[in-house]
Amino acid sequence: MRDRSLEEFVGGEAEAGESDVDVDEDEGDVEPATVTYGWSPEGAPCDACETVVERRWRDGDDAVCSACKNW
Ligand SMILES: [Zn+2]
Repeated sequence: MRDRSLEEFVGGEAEAGESDVDVDEDEGDVEPATVTYGWSPEGAPCDACETVVERRWRDGDDAVCSACKNW
């Protein structure tokens, strides 16, 4: 009688605790930051000064080099 009560108590508590932790971790995904620049390994011309650069930053609808980007 004594052993049976202890078993039920421990089992129930462990089960509830584990499912709580799982839910928290599964929904804890961090949204990736919005992409603000494009990467072109071969280079691409800046929309403002036409300098060919590997990395161009979003500036409205344009993709510009870091020198033309309005920080
Ligand atoms: Zn530029």
